[in-house]
Amino acid sequence: MTYTVPKLTDYSAAALEKAADECIAACTTEAEAVRSDADLKSFRDRWMARKNGILTQINDLWLKGAPKEAKREAGMRVNELKTRITELVEGAHSGAGADSLASEFVDISLPGIRRPIGAEHAIVKTSNEIVAVFQKLGYSVAEGPVVETDYYNFESLNFPPNHPARDTQDTLFIAGQQSKPQRERLLLRTHTSPVQIRTMEQMRPPIRIVIPGTVHRNDPPDASHSPMFHQIEGLAVDTNITFGDLKGTLDHAMKALFGSSVKTHFRPSFFPFTEPSAELYVTCFICGGSGKRGADPCRPCKQTGWIEVLGCGMVDPNVFEFVKDNGYDPKKVSGFAFGMGVDRLALLKYGLDDLQYFFQGDVRFLEQFG
Ligand SMILES: [Zn+2]
Repeated sequence: MTYTVPKLTDYSAAALEKAADECIAACTTEAEAVRSDADLKSFRDRWMARKNGILTQINDLWLKGAPKEAKREAGMRVNELKTRITELVEGAHSGAGADSLASEFVDISLPGIRRPIGAEHAIVKTSNEIVAVFQKLGYSVAEGPVVETDYYNFESLNFPPNHPARDTQDTLFIAGQQSKPQRERLLLRTHTSPVQIRTMEQMRPPIRIVIPGTVHRNDPPDASHSPMFHQIEGLAVDTNITFGDLKGTLDHAMKALFGSSVKTHFRPSFFPFTEPSAELYVTCFICGGSGKRGADPCRPCKQTGWIEVLGCGMVDPNVFEFVKDNGYDPKKVSGFAFGMGVDRLALLKYGLDDLQYFFQGDVRFLEQFG
């Protein structure tokens, strides 16, 4: 409620004191409500203006209006009140003014702000190195969504519904999808392979692509597992692509990555989306294939002298059937695909024994790769 100066009828000491206290309380409240320079000006004018300011009104109503016998007492009271009100008004300041002063304050004795220079994470670095090897061979980089549909992650890669190969992938599904048809249900992609189909839907053959990216599986974190990890896949499709092209390409890539002295070696394997399928081994780049480090056994290759680095194979004709209308007639084109785990290769490359170091965000660990 806005304060107005009351007319006094009772000029007793008690009544004057009560009226003065009310006036001071009102002025204090208004002083505290001042927020800006504009507030401050109107507050000052309201109380101090010579023409009809509150102090002038008090002078007129309380002092000039006082009966003769009360004039002395009223004069003293009004003078005290004026002093107090003047103090309050002079002491008031706008918050805005205080803030701008604080923000303009510069401590010239402070040292400058040093921004630490970032560096590539060891996994990103390894991934870029692998991608660069294939880019030199004419491959381009393709990417796709991490949240995928069952269709792209499984069905179109020749994992039919209820096929046991799906169980090996420990998939993380998005909740609340039960009302959708199975092929539309969302999940976190378990491999980068869905991007192969997505790219073949967009581009007609011939294609040569590498696909780096994050994938997720329901694996509790330990020294060699993580619920999130990184893959790089490759796909080449053209007429007359043979297993010889696959072997030559990967042999070249492994020599570019691990040194020209490494030997490669293929062992039969199984993947739903390739036929035939193989696992690629390289001679251990830690012990040079001997299985020993001095007198000690070489642990990364389990003393075999060979390290498995990737899975690969010729694209299964069933996969081409899903993109047949875009020029991928399995009777006319053939291709090969391969996929590797970047995190594991980074572990081997840097001679580490625990995958979790990569994901704990400890700068003391990470800055060693900068
Ligand atoms: Zn070894």
